[in-house]
Amino acid sequence: MPQLSHRITTLNDGGSDGWEVFYRARAMIVAGTPVTELTIGEHDIGTDASILQAIHAAALRGHTGYAMVPGVHALRRAVAERLTARTGVPTGPENVLITPGGQAALFSAHVTVLSPGDAALYIDPYYATYPGTIRAASGTPIAIQTEAARAFLPSGAAIAEAARKSGAKSLLINTPNNPTGTVYPRKTIEDIAEACTAQDLWLISDEVYDTQVWQGAHVSPRSLPGMAERTLLVGSMSKSHAMTGSRVGWLVGPAEAVDRLIDLATATTYGVPGYIQDGALFALEQGPGLEDRVSEPFRRRRDLALRVLAEQNTVTAIPPQGAMYIMLDIRATGLSGRDFAEALLDAHHIAVMPGESFGRSAAGHVRVALTVDDARLEDSLRTLCAFAETRAQAA
Ligand code: PMP
Repeated sequence: MPQLSHRITTLNDGGSDGWEVFYRARAMIVAGTPVTELTIGEHDIGTDASILQAIHAAALRGHTGYAMVPGVHALRRAVAERLTARTGVPTGPENVLITPGGQAALFSAHVTVLSPGDAALYIDPYYATYPGTIRAASGTPIAIQTEAARAFLPSGAAIAEAARKSGAKSLLINTPNNPTGTVYPRKTIEDIAEACTAQDLWLISDEVYDTQVWQGAHVSPRSLPGMAERTLLVGSMSKSHAMTGSRVGWLVGPAEAVDRLIDLATATTYGVPGYIQDGALFALEQGPGLEDRVSEPFRRRRDLALRVLAEQNTVTAIPPQGAMYIMLDIRATGLSGRDFAEALLDAHHIAVMPGESFGRSAAGHVRVALTVDDARLEDSLRTLCAFAETRAQAA
């Protein structure tokens, strides 16, 4: 076989891609061993039947040909109206590109603002695809570390310093945050905005969990003065409407940037299936009722998880303020997150994600997705805590 490209062979930096425990759990299931999967952010409910019916009806109506590459106009307009309502920034269809999920939006955003080799900042702990996404867009990923003791919040000073040192062109943030559950307070968003303006950075703002907030309020950086012109906002129907498999999301930004993004979409994805977009439009038109139904179980299970944790002292957590996960601090066991997750999978057939999969700042933690029914989650957390206690005593 002829040689593969440098870009593709270095996508994961030659190291692990952070998903080994997940793949091992899946292999165990295929081999017939039941595993409680608390790994990826996949709802335990499917897409609502009414949305599936809308998709079905759209396909039967004949919306099965090539759709408009930037997205069907009505959906672009609905997303623009949603953003206007949520951020107070006047937003029109010309500011919106419909993408095959938030992941494609993250990639496209980086391609749009990075030239080959440019440094691109992101906050550690991070959603596991981020460094690979930046490399795929020919950028050089640079992580900014945070601390559990500071709720994993980045400081404006650290961002400005990293930008100065690296000459970075962009900063990627995610609030509500996966994996930590942190919702950035207004002050943090203001500090980030100030650093971006001072260092002339593009801000790529991943807001795919914006409907899942349990404490505080989601502040979109696009709403801050002067930020709309330097922000590319990433949104998705995956988490808000349990539509992970439909692959529909969006990118919102200055019209001039969106025009360029349409060129990129034409040369890569060639758009999103029309019947899926019609389903997404139907879903958005249902308003917050449907979104609340989708997010409510995570709020309930977050409370449940905190109640179980309160019964013991070995495993601790920063109460998640949003999203569908809880990050557990298992440092009392003396194990790394990876070793803990591997041992828990072997001993109890419970799969969680090692904190290290999300970066150095999350070492000694594991992330639990709140994506199984309440009783099973409670049992699994009790087992996990008891396991941690045994390991802590042995340490
Ligand atoms: N951003 C974050 C923080 C995520 O957790 C995910 C999915 N787990 C995505 C983006 C991508 O989601 P999708 O492509 O399904 O919209």
